[in-house]
Amino acid sequence: MAGAESILNKSILARNGGLPRSVYGRTILAPSTNAGWFFPIQNTGRCDAAKDPSVQHLRMGFGESMEKKWQNPHRRWNSLRQAWVMVSPHRTQRPWLGEVGQTAVPPGAAYDPECYLCPGNKRAGGDQNPAYESVFSFVNDYAALLPEAPPTVEAPASPLLAAEAVRGICKVLCFHPDHSLTVARMTREEIRCVVDAWAQEHQELAALDWIQYVQIFENRGAMMGASNPHPHCQIWSTGFVPDEPAAETAAQKEHLARTGHCLLCDYLETERAAGERVIFENEYFTALVPWWAVWPFEVLLLSRRHMGALPEFTSGERSGLADALKRMTTRYDNLFATSFPYTMGFHQTPTTGEAHPEWHFHAHFYPPLLRSATVRKYMVGFEMLGMPQRDITAESAAERLRACAEEHFWPRL
Ligand SMILES: [Zn+2]
Ligand SMILES: [Zn+2]
Ligand SMILES: [Zn+2]
Repeated sequence: MAGAESILNKSILARNGGLPRSVYGRTILAPSTNAGWFFPIQNTGRCDAAKDPSVQHLRMGFGESMEKKWQNPHRRWNSLRQAWVMVSPHRTQRPWLGEVGQTAVPPGAAYDPECYLCPGNKRAGGDQNPAYESVFSFVNDYAALLPEAPPTVEAPASPLLAAEAVRGICKVLCFHPDHSLTVARMTREEIRCVVDAWAQEHQELAALDWIQYVQIFENRGAMMGASNPHPHCQIWSTGFVPDEPAAETAAQKEHLARTGHCLLCDYLETERAAGERVIFENEYFTALVPWWAVWPFEVLLLSRRHMGALPEFTSGERSGLADALKRMTTRYDNLFATSFPYTMGFHQTPTTGEAHPEWHFHAHFYPPLLRSATVRKYMVGFEMLGMPQRDITAESAAERLRACAEEHFWPRL
């Protein structure tokens, strides 16, 4: 285990108050003798049956014993983000005196004359949208970043007041001309057009030598701050690698250097063997509630093949991603019979011009809802001042999402 000691990196030691009690993934969670806390980071066997797209063939290993295993407060290590999350499953029985809401009614109109994303409408910046029939992208009229090379920032009066000029390109991509649709209610063929557009946008933006990262993300629902229900996403490409992908780059690089393997390939194999956090999978993607989930119904969508970015996808993988997005968002909507809000985005290889063999393509879904269409989780108090915390376990969230149908509760006519 000498090699394992070396992975006791500084951050883990620091987080444990400098006590070298932890060996990655094994005793890090519980220095107790409870064998039920063991996290098999080193998977011993592949799940052959998991090649079958039917999730029933996965070893679920879920039941009363699994529930009991995680009923005590504990904290879990996020090996991708290098951070802890506290899990307090015993709190789910506490009385609730907060807001209780009604199921949201999905919007009905296919065209909204006031919508700046609908075909043919004028945008606030004065441009007119074409009468598009599939996808449509444009540079954001109120972009957070501008592409022009910025003037150099003056040297700060103190190193404690450091700043740096930044530039970027912020685009908007409309998924569909129909104002009333969401990904969940689009067809697989329509979503495939969006996947193709994402790949093309990524390729074009990454080709600019000063762009170092392309972040595609969708804010869905007013609860997530989406100002417009029209189905669309944003594509912010930046002249620097933002913090989240930078942290994941470091973690993936470290794992590759230490083990010779990809972190997320190893993680995917571990999760598929365990089965208890897997929601569903198709031939190309696996959807699961990650071990380290912070949001109640957080999901990680992992490509089965080791690849870094959308342009590397085969045609089958593009359709596989469309299928996975359709099924995941439908299950989400069915969970509380509402148009489920979330922030979803892809993490891909930085476009820094270097090879990034450590990078494994994935999507994160961060949905805020906790127990109904309107009762959400808040990241406040201890979470702002201490660390993230959740009540329901990742295993029980996965069980709930596995039980959801893949036929939408509100069929499209
Ligand atoms: Zn619209
Ligand atoms: Zn990989
Ligand atoms: Zn990520």
